[in-house]
Amino acid sequence: MTLGSPYAVRLVMLGPPGAGKGTQAERFARTHGIPKISTGDILREAVQAGTEMGRLAREVMDAGRLVSDDIMIGIVRERLERPDADAGFVLDGFPRTVGQAQALDTMVDEAQPLVIVDVEVPTEILVQRLRTRRICGTCGVGAPPGAKVCAKCGGGLVQRVDDNEHVVRERLSVYERQTQPIVDFYAGRKTFRSIDGDQTEESVSADLAAAVASALGAYR
Ligand code: AMP
Repeated sequence: MTLGSPYAVRLVMLGPPGAGKGTQAERFARTHGIPKISTGDILREAVQAGTEMGRLAREVMDAGRLVSDDIMIGIVRERLERPDADAGFVLDGFPRTVGQAQALDTMVDEAQPLVIVDVEVPTEILVQRLRTRRICGTCGVGAPPGAKVCAKCGGGLVQRVDDNEHVVRERLSVYERQTQPIVDFYAGRKTFRSIDGDQTEESVSADLAAAVASALGAYR
């Protein structure tokens, strides 16, 4: 661990759809050798694999609404029990409701801090980003603006079904109603930080690293 902290990093990335949480979570996880746990990715994999859970989740996801807390809490609880999460983790897309946030508190060891970073981006920029965002049709990785093929596997790029303007507006309104309240749930904690997501990817990464270091410093 390069953060000079005796703690495993347990990072929760908050922020609206399109804030760049996924990209930043991926970079942070890779740098620190800890798993990135993205509930959106887990659900999309289940849809692709045609499992029972995927079948249940598909319609809800395509409409931009939220999958039930019971299902989501079960998925995350199971994932956090896997041994690789002992070294720390980055959560991307969870929690999304106050119920999920309360459940998460019961899943983590109290002796280890949960660092919460909220990535802030103005709404009109989010709409623009989501409408033009492309992901790999083969491996699902996000592609930078202007890319023609996937940098990881060479696959063709596609738009996510839920990235069309109508569903994007619905997802942003669901965020405001159901997820924004968890910012208030966490805001009073010593390990809560906000960062500006309307900057270059590198600048956001630098601010994220500084926010995590400061949060862990405040915990000690
Ligand atoms: P994301 O990739 O994080 O934008 O998630 C895509 C979709 O998956 C969301 O619009 C929801 O339908 C569903 N989803 C992902 N994470 C959660 C969660 N924690 N709670 C409920 N639904 C979720």
